[in-house]
Amino acid sequence: MKVYSTLSGQKEEFLPQGDEVKMYVCGVTPYDDCHIGHAMSYIVFDVIRRYLQFRGYKVKYVQNITDIDDKIIDRADKLGISTGELAEKYINNYFADMDALNIEQADIYPRATEEIPKIIEVIQGLIDKRYAYPAQGSVYFRVRSVADYGKLSHRSLESVMAGMRIEVGEDKEYPMDFTLWKASKPGEPSWQSPWGPGRPGWHIECSAMSLKYLGDTLDIHGGGQDLVFPHHENEIAQSESFTGTKPFVKYWLHNGLVQLGEDKMSKSLGNLITIKEALERYSPDAIRIFILSSHYRSPLTYSEEGLEAAERGAERIRQAVHGEGKGGKVGERVDVEPYRRRFIEAMDDDFNTAQALATIFDLTRDINRADEAGLDVTEARGVLLELAGILGLTLKLPEKPPLDAEPLRQLLISINNRLLEAKLKGIPIDRLSTDVESLMELLTSTRNTLRDAKLWQLADEIRAKLGELGIALEDTPKETKWKRKR
Ligand SMILES: [Zn+2]
Repeated sequence: MKVYSTLSGQKEEFLPQGDEVKMYVCGVTPYDDCHIGHAMSYIVFDVIRRYLQFRGYKVKYVQNITDIDDKIIDRADKLGISTGELAEKYINNYFADMDALNIEQADIYPRATEEIPKIIEVIQGLIDKRYAYPAQGSVYFRVRSVADYGKLSHRSLESVMAGMRIEVGEDKEYPMDFTLWKASKPGEPSWQSPWGPGRPGWHIECSAMSLKYLGDTLDIHGGGQDLVFPHHENEIAQSESFTGTKPFVKYWLHNGLVQLGEDKMSKSLGNLITIKEALERYSPDAIRIFILSSHYRSPLTYSEEGLEAAERGAERIRQAVHGEGKGGKVGERVDVEPYRRRFIEAMDDDFNTAQALATIFDLTRDINRADEAGLDVTEARGVLLELAGILGLTLKLPEKPPLDAEPLRQLLISINNRLLEAKLKGIPIDRLSTDVESLMELLTSTRNTLRDAKLWQLADEIRAKLGELGIALEDTPKETKWKRKR
């Protein structure tokens, strides 16, 4: 199995430290609803984790929650509620979104506010080793004390400095030094520390939590590409300086970012599509197929057409899994081994989900064809379900709300009135029940009578009205069938 690591900039043989893969992915800052960018990142790492498990590894997956930071304080202030209340609300929304997208929960979700003692211990250790220094109640990391700072993002301190705005009025020794502990202003939420009341910086949180729950060296550290610098660069500097152990992370995996047209999807640009909004229009399977159709390291351009195509794809797979064939003939079946092999080859090559999906669609087509031809597809269906499950597809049939009989009754009454006006024999109104099946039976037979009488316009009108109600009519030589549209 090969995985691409941002640190080396190439695909490397995947050799974890032991049978249990230690995996850490940066989590959310719960101050607002999650958007499609979050969906992409957490779906990508969900699939990676599912695939590792399929390959026989145990996975210990930790994802932090940054439940205190400047954005949370600002938003809570504006809303006039406590930071705790705000965070709790959006943590709950986050879990609801993840469940809806069929993303499996991490094993541990440590929260910054509950890990203060460990964070203080790591900061104190860094001060003791002279990698950090306190100043005016805050603590800063001394980046120039780390010789290989910049190795993850492949840039030097000088090049970063050149493009940087030097902030005035800070008590740093050097402009690139970053905050480990931030002294609180009066009225802000704060925790006691050896340096005075304050709150942890974002970067130190991830170092402290990964150390506490996964140890000195992680196998996989994941996150979006926008986290490479400075967040992950700083995590390396902190963790390796504190533990004295290298590497902090064996494989650094970063997913591409979601774009809307030419722009990155971001809160500051105001072009966010939330997970909830997407789920109102598309099934979770369609959203996953859309995201997994391109390589996880590539940028993904959000598109309605792409999602609609993914929805049709999801429907084809569902049909292959739930289809009612003509009954299998003994001895003839779909050969599943080539599909399974192709799927594994694709995923072994740095989680090439686009290729893996292509395999799933080929198997789907084969099953639908074989099923139609009366071949035994039981085993093939099992394999399809298994492979689709590794990509986290549920293949559940979407629930449709029950049809309302009232519009159908009204339609029949109006037809009846017009037939009476035309002095044609009307439909006996006492036959209008409140049950959809019998109303539809009456409507289709009325329409057939009208067609036989060459009253095309009225017959077409019935079809159009039914179309508006989400019902499609299908005329076969023998009869007229009706079915629910999507
Ligand atoms: Zn992090």
